[in-house]
Amino acid sequence: MPPIDRHMPFFRLLDAARQPGCPLCRLIRAHTRRQLESILYESVNDVGFRDRWRAARGYCHRHAWILAEFQDALGTAILYEDVIAFYGARLLTDGTGAKCPLCRAEAMDLDDRIAVLEQSWDDDELRAALEAGDGLCGPHVRAVLRQVRRAEVREALLRVSAARLQRLAAELRQQIDSCDYQHAPPTDERIKHAWRRAIEQLVGCRDVPPTD
Ligand SMILES: [Zn+2]
Ligand SMILES: [Zn+2]
Repeated sequence: MPPIDRHMPFFRLLDAARQPGCPLCRLIRAHTRRQLESILYESVNDVGFRDRWRAARGYCHRHAWILAEFQDALGTAILYEDVIAFYGARLLTDGTGAKCPLCRAEAMDLDDRIAVLEQSWDDDELRAALEAGDGLCGPHVRAVLRQVRRAEVREALLRVSAARLQRLAAELRQQIDSCDYQHAPPTDERIKHAWRRAIEQLVGCRDVPPTD
């Protein structure tokens, strides 16, 4: 096995694996927000960007609402005025445009991050962080299983993820039992929020696209 190249994308993945939640969801979410930020600051009046924006007829539902979270009144108004002025009532009767540019960017971003995961799989520090942390959500486990060529990576990921899911079921049971008046309320934050981790584990984090 060639030595692992511990470059910037590797350290981003390692860092995300040590934070709560699915590391791929976390990285993609942050990347999309950085992109939106730079669009709002730099690209609203950029001709090339405007052409792509117009071709897509704006962002998809999910990305439009992430854009709204920035509360950039002027930038958002300029973008939507552009598309409404260009298409007019056609927007109402024919809503289909080119694929949402941010959805496309996210799909490419995910492929890149999975490639880093596969290349860095033999790094002990990364493996330990992935095993100890919340791990990958279901949609991202499936995306990795589809994309990764090394069978040992697929097998190890599936084994670690299945064991984690079993632990989660036990934690959900603990959380449920703790609601019983005979039990002391849980003091462990992880148990208290097991229900939320279960949602993230099964469908991925909010704002992150389904990949299946
Ligand atoms: Zn995920
Ligand atoms: Zn989108």
